[in-house]
Amino acid sequence: MSKTQDKNNQLNKIRHSLAHVMALIVQELYPKVKFGIGPSIENGFYYDFDNLKISDSDLKKIENKMRELIKSNLKFEKKIISKIEAKKLFKNQKYKLDLIKYLDKIIIYKLGNFIDLCAGPHIKSTKEICPNAFKLTKIAGAYWRGDEKNPMLTRIYGLAFETKKELQDYLIQQEEAKKRDHRAFGQKLDLFSFHDQGPGFVFWHPKGLFLKDKLIEYWRQEHQKAGYQEISTPFMLKQDLWQTSKHMQTYKENMYFSEIDKEKYVIKPMNCPGGLLIYKEKPHSYKELPMRIAELGLVHRHELAGVLHGLFRVRAFVQDDAHIYCSQGQIEDELKKVIKLTQKIYQKFGFKKWHLELSTRPEKYTGDLKMWNLAEKILENVLKDLNMDYKINPGDGAFYGPKIDSHLEDAIGRTWQCGTVQLDFSQPENFKLEYIDEQGKKQRPVMIHRTIYGSLERFIGVLLEHYAGALPFWLSPEQIWIIPISQKHKKYASKILENLQDFRTKIKDANETVSKKIRDGEMQKIPYLLIVGDKEIKNKTINIRERGKKEQQEVSIKDFIENVTSPEN
Ligand SMILES: [Zn+2]
Ligand SMILES: [Zn+2]
Repeated sequence: MSKTQDKNNQLNKIRHSLAHVMALIVQELYPKVKFGIGPSIENGFYYDFDNLKISDSDLKKIENKMRELIKSNLKFEKKIISKIEAKKLFKNQKYKLDLIKYLDKIIIYKLGNFIDLCAGPHIKSTKEICPNAFKLTKIAGAYWRGDEKNPMLTRIYGLAFETKKELQDYLIQQEEAKKRDHRAFGQKLDLFSFHDQGPGFVFWHPKGLFLKDKLIEYWRQEHQKAGYQEISTPFMLKQDLWQTSKHMQTYKENMYFSEIDKEKYVIKPMNCPGGLLIYKEKPHSYKELPMRIAELGLVHRHELAGVLHGLFRVRAFVQDDAHIYCSQGQIEDELKKVIKLTQKIYQKFGFKKWHLELSTRPEKYTGDLKMWNLAEKILENVLKDLNMDYKINPGDGAFYGPKIDSHLEDAIGRTWQCGTVQLDFSQPENFKLEYIDEQGKKQRPVMIHRTIYGSLERFIGVLLEHYAGALPFWLSPEQIWIIPISQKHKKYASKILENLQDFRTKIKDANETVSKKIRDGEMQKIPYLLIVGDKEIKNKTINIRERGKKEQQEVSIKDFIENVTSPEN
């Protein structure tokens, strides 16, 4: 186990232990309370209570008492008891009794006067908690066991880290993240919208669609250079195809269905099965391998209404998919090429830091164990050879093969999983794929699934938050606004516009004040505002206001064009 995982375990123990500390204080302050569950979660913990009527103003009081208690170095004591003892012990706690029903082995943890049904693990004593590295954040309603037929409990959320600095950094990051919400930019910059008539489905406005197309244009350019061919497969295909691909058996709850001429169809959640049919269209020779077949496919996947979130969690998205069919001996080389291409594309979008995570064989897997071991070995070799930052997630691979995920770090230090490369030995088997080797014998190719953006929708969301809406010049749907100071400067503005035909330029000549137009331009995150008046006409110049800079600059149109066409832009 790596060092980071150890740390995470200690941190998880701290977070979960804080849930007990909070429960102890709540029990002291509100003796009639009934306890639900209190797990650790990402960045903190929560506990669910019933019979607890409190407001945000009570959180500070609970938090202060927790701090005092932590300083008293109270110990966590573990005990294993019988089911009968447990039922007696928790006789007034209906939710605990509900849990006991499902348990074979009963473990309890005691902290002061608070005894909880809990499998642990916990820290030894509260002295392992830094009293200034946690904070209670909010109260929310949550149904017992997540089921709306059950009573609504009161959930108190807390944040927790190992050090005060980590907590502060996180709070600053959260503040910064609020200002960067991509959903707000979607509206302000007029890029996209969502409507009740189709929850989770994006409506792209002209500027948003332009941005999406720009991502595709760049992607095509790079993939052509890297030897990919592009295909397009249908959105709906008969259900028996998804039986062969095993999606019906493993992915059904995420799929949408339809019917044509009384036959059952699946709206594709993935592009692979369609692509496999093209591969099987004709026999293949080893001379054709590796075959790199890309597809920008629109896929539909069912997500619960409660988890939908702007462009980050949607029900339909374009996946920048590709499937590489190759021989075993070509796997390593192909994986390296995919990772290098991924790196090149991320750099283009200004992501300087990213790391890889290797996920290995899960408990439930298909295929041959020897093949798995070989594949994992190859993947690790690739990561070592490339000399990149990586982490191993044991047992986290897909059931059909191990994978490497790309995690991007954005401008405020958050990480986003975007691209992925997966080795697959199952689909070639399910679909009986073949190629003829050098000796004229039939062989089964290996299949590599890979994405770089992941979902185009999500990637655009990440970009908007990374850049706080201020997209780089080459991606900006509107690059330049020319602002004439008054009506008499309009003619000169038109002349400037003629010179800027290669850019996405427009004249803002509406009957508004210059300062209003400048404010609008700043709000719209336009990279360059060119202001023209008497002085500029006389000097044959323009006055540039560059996004993010306070001072204006008077330059010739020729110098301006040279500047914006420089490679840094
Ligand atoms: Zn516990
Ligand atoms: Zn695939």
